[in-house]
Parts: sequence; C-alpha cells; structure tokens
Amino acid sequence: MSIEEINEAIDKEIEFIGLKNQESVKGMMRIKTVLNKAEGLKHCLCCNGWLTPDNFSKNKSAPDGLCFYCKVCNHEQDIRRTRI
Ligand SMILES: [Zn+2]
Repeated sequence: MSIEEINEAIDKEIEFIGLKNQESVKGMMRIKTVLNKAEGLKHCLCCNGWLTPDNFSKNKSAPDGLCFYCKVCNHEQDIRRTRI
C-alpha cells in the first residue's frame, strides 16, 4: 500500500466518522501526520497536501529550512500579490 492510498483511506474514514466523533477525527489526523512525516513528506499549510520536500522552496528563517507553503501555493500567492 502506498502512502497516497493510506492517505486516501484515512480521508475517507475521517469523512465517515467526522460528524459523529470529533475525538476520533483528531486521532486519525494525528496518525496521518505521523505516517506522512515518517515517509519524509512535508505538510503545506495552504493546500493541506503532503508533498516531498523538493516541492517546497528554501527558506532560511524556517525551522526546517523550507517554506511553509509548497511551490504551487507560493506561486499562486505571488500572482495574487502582484494583482493587488
Ligand atoms: Zn500547497
């Protein structure tokens, strides 16, 4: 089973139990975080996706040396910024 399939299974489970049991959802989210981190993936705060570190630009001021947003989200933010 690949990490993508596991994530999908957990998401389905969260959707299913979501409305009934908030505590279980929190537990599932924790499992998901641990699993993805173990795979060496990084969470994007913008699109909520788990991606490999090469999807993130470098950021010297961040604790792990990488941006909080993935390259795609960063790019979208840049477009929005230049439009204003
Ligand atoms: Zn993103």
